[in-house]
Amino acid sequence: MLKTKISTFDSTWNPVVGCLHGCEYCYARKIAQRFGGVKIGNFNGNIYELDESYRRSLDGKINPYPYEFMPTFHRYRLNDYIEKKGRNIFVCSMADLFGSWVPESWIDEVFDTCEKAPQHNYLFLTKNPKRYEKILDRYMPPNMWFGWSQTGPMGNKCDFTTHHSIKTFISIEPLLEPFKEIHIRGVDWVIIGAETGRRKDKVVPERKWIEDIVNGCRKAEIPIFMKSSLTDIWGEPLIQEFPKELRGEKHGK
Ligand code: SF4
Repeated sequence: MLKTKISTFDSTWNPVVGCLHGCEYCYARKIAQRFGGVKIGNFNGNIYELDESYRRSLDGKINPYPYEFMPTFHRYRLNDYIEKKGRNIFVCSMADLFGSWVPESWIDEVFDTCEKAPQHNYLFLTKNPKRYEKILDRYMPPNMWFGWSQTGPMGNKCDFTTHHSIKTFISIEPLLEPFKEIHIRGVDWVIIGAETGRRKDKVVPERKWIEDIVNGCRKAEIPIFMKSSLTDIWGEPLIQEFPKELRGEKHGK
């Protein structure tokens, strides 16, 4: 996660790391490739599981990405937040936990752990929201938030309008195309951000694109959170609103 003056989330928790979507603008892959390394052996298939952290044989230091950006379940991280004070946790900021390649059992183990620590809010984000359909029939506690990434009008869409009890959000980050009309009925929160980094074909959104989203959210009375990557385009102050369920003391609300 990139740092903002007000962080979108209090913490990130990465029991699963790695993703096969292959987005060109992916910062997580760059981090994993930069700080990761190749674990010797056990290269069968394209998903991995680790029951304990992997240490480099040369210096004994922990390598957080031994398989670089290949999907890896770091099962030993499951209990990282069990004992901690309540906070808003972005689950799997370095992965897509709902990617089609992720075994159901990994998701179940993450959900089971969330249930053991109900003091937190858990925010999930995917580029494959179709996979959420399966969970719509299950009871999901109100501290679990299900988000999907949408970079333009033709991107992922998800309709939770008939499942009011499930908390949802859209992450429009990076904003790559203008939305003529934004479908946000039944959504509880919208996050907007611009592409960061120095990619050759980097897209810098126009202010009008952002205004259109803001107007749509205002009409529907949906809170908006602008990432600091919009500062140069939008100016100060950025709109940084949280749904009431996610307002902690740190935000002074
Ligand atoms: S979905 Fe997210 S983690 Fe996966 S490649 Fe795209 S930007 Fe990276």
